[in-house]
Order: sequence, then C-alpha cells, then structure tokens
Amino acid sequence: MFKNAVELSHFYLENTINKGSIVVDATCGNGNDTLFLDALVGENGTIFAFDIQKCAIESTKKRLEEKGICKNIRYILDGHENLSKYLANKKADAFIFNLGYLPKGDHSIQTKADTTILAIKDALIHLNKEGIILICIYHGKDSGFLERDQVLDFLKTLDSHLYNVIIHDYSNKPNHPPILAVISHNT
Ligand code: SAH
Repeated sequence: MFKNAVELSHFYLENTINKGSIVVDATCGNGNDTLFLDALVGENGTIFAFDIQKCAIESTKKRLEEKGICKNIRYILDGHENLSKYLANKKADAFIFNLGYLPKGDHSIQTKADTTILAIKDALIHLNKEGIILICIYHGKDSGFLERDQVLDFLKTLDSHLYNVIIHDYSNKPNHPPILAVISHNT
C-alpha cells in the first residue's frame, strides 16, 4: 500500500473525486493520471489535460480515446501557468501535477519552479472547497533539485488559516524517491 508518491496520489484522488467532478491534469505526459482521473469522474465529468509537448497531448488523447469513458475532455497544448485562461470561472475538485520530465521523453523539457508556482497559485484560486491539489515532485539525477526546493519553500508560505499543506517524503528510500505535496482548504 502507498508504495510510492504516485500510488499515494491516487489514493487521495479516489477519496476526493466523485462522478461528475471537474479535474485538472496539469502535466498529462503519457496520460497515466488522466486515465485514472477519467475512471473516477465517469462519463459526465470534466477533465482538463495540459502539456506543453505535442507528443504528450497526442499520446494522452490516443490513450483516452481507446480506454476512457469521460465525454468532456479538453486537451490543452499550453503551459499549466495559463490554466486560469481555460478554467475561466470554473472550480475544480482536483489538480494533479507530476513535475520533472516525460519518462522516455526529452529530458531537457522539464517543469520549472517559476511556472509551476504560478500554476499552483492559479490552482488555489480555482480549487473547490472540498478539493485537493496534488504535486508529485520528482528530483534527483537530471531533474530538479532547484524546482523541488523552490516549490517546497513556496508551499511553506501558504497561509495556514486558509490551507493545509502535507508533505509526504519516503524518507527511508534511496535514490531521491518522488515527494508528494498535498494541499487542501483549511475548513
Ligand atoms: N503524469 C505523466 C508524467 C508527466 S511528466 C504520466 O503519467 O505519464 C511531466 C510533463 O510535464 C512532461 O510531459 C512535460 O512536457 C510537461 N510540462 C513541462 N512543463 C510544463 C508546463 N509549463 N505546463 C504543462 N506541462 C508541462
């Protein structure tokens, strides 16, 4: 159980999302999380899937067309820092970010602290009262220690009267396992 940050993020999603929910995959990559979200929101839910790489958007779309059930999916070839533009006045029940680079993809294309933080700020604005923001922070090797540190520092600045921030760190595991950050409203 909860063998890694991704499994744990899915546990949170399962306990937050209902059929018909609005959700955001802020870094859809190969679509693993998008497909997971699809099953949770069901055919009447809404999914916004962002990625800056055309190949990521295409493989997510292919995957969802083959296996998905949700009828309302927006595939957005744009940075998650622009998410307000697409969500407009909508609130979402869950946001998931998988930071770093696309597995088996171009490692030079990575999420970056400044745009990630802008996107988290936007996600907070669009977060439903009972909603959740999940951030899987990949670090180590050729992905971002700098992004990890800046994102974690930023999360510490969130007003504790308004938000709960939980950091899950697999502290007994070698090789910099991903860290999961969880944000919810403090209500
Ligand atoms: N969840 C994915 C893996 C995501 S990897 C899966 O399950 O397969 C990180 C992804 O973030 C990459 O595909 C990369 O292209 C994307 N990315 C990088 N910067 C971004 C940005 N500013 N906005 C949205 N996506 C971004």
